[in-house]
Amino acid sequence: MKQEMICITCPMGCHLTVELVDNDVKSVSGNTCPRGKDYAINECLHPLRVLTSTVIIKNALVSRCPVITSKPIPKEKIFDAMKEINEITIQAPIHINDVIIKNVCGLDVDVIASRSMGRV
Ligand code: SF4
Repeated sequence: MKQEMICITCPMGCHLTVELVDNDVKSVSGNTCPRGKDYAINECLHPLRVLTSTVIIKNALVSRCPVITSKPIPKEKIFDAMKEINEITIQAPIHINDVIIKNVCGLDVDVIASRSMGRV
């Protein structure tokens, strides 16, 4: 089976073709550099995503605070992480990079504030 994808590692955006056999990567073509091969293999076998969302915040000017995972997390864990994010409420003031959820879903990744929000 062949899978087409665009490498997003750098602005070149190389068009990659990945040949999969028995759920394993047999070959990668179209990459201009070795990082493209690594990207294609990871995307096929262990896709990761940085998760951005918002959490409810009290005593701030607006009702939700934007958050982001400190590192990419496995794509299949995004719904579990969203469940944890949707269950919490925080209090202003919050500073950018404050840890909002430590070790989300046991992934050794934190959910951190992506902006500061003062108390009103
Ligand atoms: S394969 Fe290399 S040159 Fe092409 S987009 Fe990926 S990182 Fe950039």
